Formats: sequence, C-alpha cells, structure tokens
Amino acid sequence: MQYRLDAKTNTQLSVFGLGGMRIPKDYESAKAMVVAAHEAGVNYIDTAYIYQGSEDMFGRVLAETGLRDAFHIATKLPLILLKSGADFDKYFDISCKRLQTDHIDYYLLHMLTDPGQYEKLLSWGLEEWIAKKRASGQIRRLGFSFHGLGTDFLKLLELRDWDFVQIQYNYSDPNYQAGVAGLKAAAAKGIPVMVMEPLLGGRLADSLPVEAQKTFKKADPARSLAAWAFRWLYDQPEVTLCLSGMPKMEMLRDNLSVADAAAVGMVTAEERAVYDEVAGILRSLTKVPCTGCGYCMPCPKGVNIPGCFGAYNTRFTINHKTGTQQYASSAGLTSKNYAAASECVGCKKCERHCPQNIPVVAELKNVAKTMEPFWWRMARFAVKRYKTATGAFSN
Ligand code: SF4
Ligand code: SF4
Repeated sequence: MQYRLDAKTNTQLSVFGLGGMRIPKDYESAKAMVVAAHEAGVNYIDTAYIYQGSEDMFGRVLAETGLRDAFHIATKLPLILLKSGADFDKYFDISCKRLQTDHIDYYLLHMLTDPGQYEKLLSWGLEEWIAKKRASGQIRRLGFSFHGLGTDFLKLLELRDWDFVQIQYNYSDPNYQAGVAGLKAAAAKGIPVMVMEPLLGGRLADSLPVEAQKTFKKADPARSLAAWAFRWLYDQPEVTLCLSGMPKMEMLRDNLSVADAAAVGMVTAEERAVYDEVAGILRSLTKVPCTGCGYCMPCPKGVNIPGCFGAYNTRFTINHKTGTQQYASSAGLTSKNYAAASECVGCKKCERHCPQNIPVVAELKNVAKTMEPFWWRMARFAVKRYKTATGAFSN
C-alpha cells in the first residue's frame, strides 16, 4: 500500500480508502472486506449517515474485530435532513452510536453545494458547534463533500480553513463539478483532497461501453478497467486518496493491487491518449450521467430512478437486448411494485437531491419514450390483468 500525506494534520493516509456506500449487506462479507483492507494497509474508511446500514455495519465490524483505531473514520452530516442547529448534535450522536465510537476522525458536511447554504449553516451556529466538538475531541477534522458547480467550489474553499475536501473526479470528464481546477486550487491551499466516484458507480468498470473496453484492452490486455481508472487518479500528486466501495472481494483485491503500485507520474503519454479516446467514446454514448448513488430515492410513486437510468444507458452503451432485459428487471415488469419511468408524476421531489444535477423528470420522460414502446405497455397490461385475476398481486 502506498501512502500520501495529509499535510494539514501530518497524517499518512493510504491512497485507497474503503468506501461505505456499496459495502456488502451481510455481516461476514463486510467483515472479510474490512479485515482484508486492513491487512493490505488501508487506514481510511468513508461512510455517511444516509448510506443505509453502512455506519451500523462498519461499527459492528470495527467493534468485533477490535480494528477501530486502525482506521481513520470519515462520516457525514446529512445537510439535506437538517431543520435547525439542534440537528447538528442529533445526527452526529446517531453516527457515533452506529459506528460505536466516541469520535469521528474526518467529519464532512455532506453535499455542501454553495456559499448560500454554508451561510445558512453559520446562522444556525455551525462554527460554535464545531469549535465545541473539536475542543472535546469528538471531531478531529472538518471538511465537506461536493457535487455542485466548479465556481461554487472555489468560493467555498475561501470561506473557511477546511481540513480536507471530498470531490467527484475521474477520467471521464476532468472538468465536471469541482474538476481539475478545484482539485488544484484545494491542493495549492494545502487541503487534502479525497476523491469519490473514481469508477462512477461502475460505469467506468463493468458497465463501460464495449467500444471503450476494447480500447483499453487493446492498450493493455492484462489491466482491469478499474485499474485504468485508479491509475489516472494516482498519477496526480494533488489526489490524497481515492474512495471506492465494492460489493465483491475480488474487486477489492484488484483495487488494492493497483494501490500497491500507486505513484505520481505512473501514466505515460501513450496512456493519456488512450484515456482521451475512451472519454470521447463515453461522452458520445452515455445518455444520463447517473452514478446510481440513490440519493434521489425513495420516489413516492415507486419509480426505480437509478435502475431506469442504468438500463437506459446500457441500452446505448452495451446493446439493445441487454438494456431491455435490465429495464424489465429494474422497472419490475412482472412485479406488483411496478417501478417504470412512466410512473413518474413530475413532483420533482427527487431532483433537489441529485448530486449530478440531473433533470430527473425530463430524463425519465426520455427513458419512458425509448424503453416502453407499445409492446412493453401491452406486456405490462397483460401481466397486470392476469396477476390481478389470479390473486398474485394481492399478496
Ligand atoms: S419527480 Fe417523478 S421520479 Fe421524481 S420523486 Fe416525483 S414521481 Fe418520483
Ligand atoms: S438520478 Fe442522481 S441522485 Fe438519483 S441515482 Fe442517479 S445520480 Fe444518484
């Protein structure tokens, strides 16, 4: 494992951090993953109040393995749930309880998007609360995670002496959100930068368009798609660490082996041309930049928003058949709980939660138009009529 310095607090951090958004739901698998990461030298775990079951799972694993102090724990204050300053303590206490710890090493304001939002937090007494928590040792460092506009990120950097920041960053579009400009601006101020979504929720791994996969494989038949993505990040000295959450152990092992060799300058000029080619393919084929994070869920009408977008993208990046099969499963074609895009009533409850700023309602209309042709609607009608008549939908 390679390490990079958090110069703000003179802390060596593993270049790979274990992400909690996609941690396995069963205890034994999650424990095996945490232990394997620890044995490989990983010393950073990232989770959040709103990642369902994630804090609880890490808390149980770390308590039962005695590994709490082997990791720096990062978790996040859910800004979207706050109603007043009284909620700072409420959510912090719940996170500590779930994580079975008395302090958080890296605490983030989750999805801070612009200076106006930060000012509102200040008016609720954020600074006084942080000062109290730091004095008691309950919060060791304060940062924020970001999914807004690049210009707002630069403004936020100026508003406080942040201990660290967390941004979405990968080779598919280096100028998206905070982007390379934000990365360099933060690093120039000595602020450690944690990178999230290095694989865009799998879109840069197994879900990568076939044409793009072929381009990578031609350049290096032995290298995994995930390795290509991580190498692009490790090459850059401004990246302190990369976070990734994986459902499977073999994915973790692959990611750890890349982290073992992580080095600034590891990407050659020839490889840069390969990344540019793949990014171009991605731009031309991807319909909706959904990462599958699920922040927009649940939908009151039951629409499986990430599932619909994922299948829609697959329809164009992989092929028609695979996309349709995926859509039938995600939308619950034969299920009582129908979750297709056409169920959307346009309430827009989901849109304000989307870190990718996707116009969900408009895109779902496009999905429905493409993925639910006449035969689909007839099939759904027939299934519904048959299952209602046989009582299968009443259970
Ligand atoms: S706008 Fe549509 S998808 Fe979004 S929450 Fe409302 S019904 Fe669900
Ligand atoms: S639509 Fe947005 S919030 Fe919903 S899963 Fe996709 S990226 Fe996440």
